[in-house]
Amino acid sequence: MLIRTAVLVLSTFLTFTAQPLSAHAYSKVGSSDHANGQVSAYSARTSETTKVLASLHPIGLIAASLVPQGQLDVLVPPGVSPHDFSLRPSDIDRLQEADIIVWSGPAVEPYLAGFARRWPDKTWIAMSDYQQFASINDPHYWLSSQVTLQVHSTLAQALGKNSDDFQRQVARAHDYSEQVLAPVKHRGFFVYHRAYDHWVHDYGLKQVGNFTLTPEQKPGGRTIQLMREQLRQGDVACVFREPEYSPALVVKVVGNLPVKHGELDPLGSHIALSKDGYPYFLRDLADRAVNCLKEEQ
Ligand SMILES: [Zn+2]
Repeated sequence: MLIRTAVLVLSTFLTFTAQPLSAHAYSKVGSSDHANGQVSAYSARTSETTKVLASLHPIGLIAASLVPQGQLDVLVPPGVSPHDFSLRPSDIDRLQEADIIVWSGPAVEPYLAGFARRWPDKTWIAMSDYQQFASINDPHYWLSSQVTLQVHSTLAQALGKNSDDFQRQVARAHDYSEQVLAPVKHRGFFVYHRAYDHWVHDYGLKQVGNFTLTPEQKPGGRTIQLMREQLRQGDVACVFREPEYSPALVVKVVGNLPVKHGELDPLGSHIALSKDGYPYFLRDLADRAVNCLKEEQ
């Protein structure tokens, strides 16, 4: 009798606990708490239908390691900088359709800040909530592999998936970058806009200057003069332009001073959304830097 009661209690318990698994689409676990970087997460059972929207292409590269193509949307089209972007009505529909939105945070994407407040029922994962994991403060958080790993882990948890494989791939891309960048650490360079500070800091690179702080602020006459002086003195081995912006400003500053030209893209727009897109992005960034910075034989 005792055993039968125990079995009955156990089966009642199992029925009770199993029931919510098919009850409805989502149930929230946890709650929003920006202070320690935790966000609300959805339970695992519906990850086959969960729609994820990544605000920017590099964030799409991070998400693509967990989310199949049909469930992943990227808001800002490749080749467009978030600094020049504004939302169209159709973009708002795409935001509305998403269950989970991964974005960089209000500094780079002010156009999303209001929606994050207006739609708290969606899961918003802001990379800026994880800035304590970065060594420096810069809003281009996807260029910090530490912040990226934290955000990936949160997204994986929200989808009931595992982040381990991605963490291993990023660790390998990091080791690769350290190795290939080591011989060019002393070689100075200008970047187009001030987007790379996490990456520059992580690998101890010698960023001497930038053509613009943010692309909408063009440099003044004194800055241009100083940059030309640095170029003349041979402090700069390479100037990096960006595919999102016309090279006119670089041409204006550099003129015919002898310096190598390279291209870095902080958005990795040429990299396809695939499972290993993000680690490839890191390797590609290192390769591009080395190609321009290495000393000619
Ligand atoms: Zn930027």
